[in-house]
Amino acid sequence: CYILGIETSCDDTSASVVSDGYKVHSNVVGSQTEVHSLYGGVVPEIASREHLKLLSPLVKKAVTEAGITFNDLSGIAVTKGPGLVGPLLVGVSFAKSFAYAKELPLIPVNHIKAHIFANFLSSSTNKGIYQHDFPLIALVISGGHTSIYYMKSYETCELIGSTRDDACGEAFDKIARALDLGYPGGPLIESEAFKGEPSIDFTKPKIDSKYDFSFSGLKSSVLNYLNKKKMKDEKFSVPDVCSSLQSTVAEILVDKTIKAALDTNVKTILLAGGVSANRTIRTQFTNEASKHDIKLCFPKLNYCTDNAAMVASLGYFNYKLGLTGTLDMNAVPNLTP
Ligand code: ATP
Ligand code: FE
Repeated sequence: CYILGIETSCDDTSASVVSDGYKVHSNVVGSQTEVHSLYGGVVPEIASREHLKLLSPLVKKAVTEAGITFNDLSGIAVTKGPGLVGPLLVGVSFAKSFAYAKELPLIPVNHIKAHIFANFLSSSTNKGIYQHDFPLIALVISGGHTSIYYMKSYETCELIGSTRDDACGEAFDKIARALDLGYPGGPLIESEAFKGEPSIDFTKPKIDSKYDFSFSGLKSSVLNYLNKKKMKDEKFSVPDVCSSLQSTVAEILVDKTIKAALDTNVKTILLAGGVSANRTIRTQFTNEASKHDIKLCFPKLNYCTDNAAMVASLGYFNYKLGLTGTLDMNAVPNLTP
């Protein structure tokens, strides 16, 4: 059962063919990073125009690379939200026209839930979907979200904790900008951190709620440190700042997520979203989870950030559950899983 996935919620244009929710036949991503890095972040109108230019050829490429024809497809899955409205509308409009022209089911997909489903993608020999045992805890750490979900089954995603201010990836991006590292910040902070030591003590946020996060205090603590050093004309080590930031973030994420798993008596944790590509965060999670006999999973590196394979995967499950859309479907910028 081949599903075509389309992803345009932010600044990555992507198309993918996935069969049965786990087997990736193609996943093409047209990155716009170069255009947006000129501005230090995503410019929504430019992103929309880039999607318009890139999407159609990428869909053709995804289907060709998969070695199938349009007639082999069982449905078109597309990100309905959350995301930037202009970019979302490009994908949604394309998918609607395509579904209409080819008389195929249109399958709306939630982008955040799709990030979680990146864990179900695997090679042809490894049936990823069968490795995951429900109920489970999913932690989504991306550019716009830091959320803990309790999932009883494929269908349900109950939000039990989230950030009260900045998302985790957003904090990385803002601090990277202050350090003049470039955009997107997460991977650049990670590569600096490899050269440093976690020697600086940045304040960890204190919030009363058990599973909620806050990253703006930590961000200010890092920015204050940098400003003080600059004002006093003192030298500081960028790798040490990055390494300290990264391990503090890892500690916060690990602490709350493991607590959520223990409290709900869950034996599996899935990480998802761009920040889950971070090796230090993965390692700290792996170590802590094994102490509590909890199975830890994360997506392959190329499925952590935005991609259409994860959209096609969730699209398959939605399709099987009859959760298809109609041609009056609209983009929903603040859609929740
Ligand atoms: P959302 O999914 O919430 O709408 P998004 O799609 O912009 O937001 P993703 O594409 O999942 O987010 O992730 C992008 C974020 O991940 C960026 O903030 C980026 O800095 C961060 N990121 C990517 N790779 C790494 C890494 N290796 N270490 C830390 N952060 C990373
Ligand atoms: Fe995303």
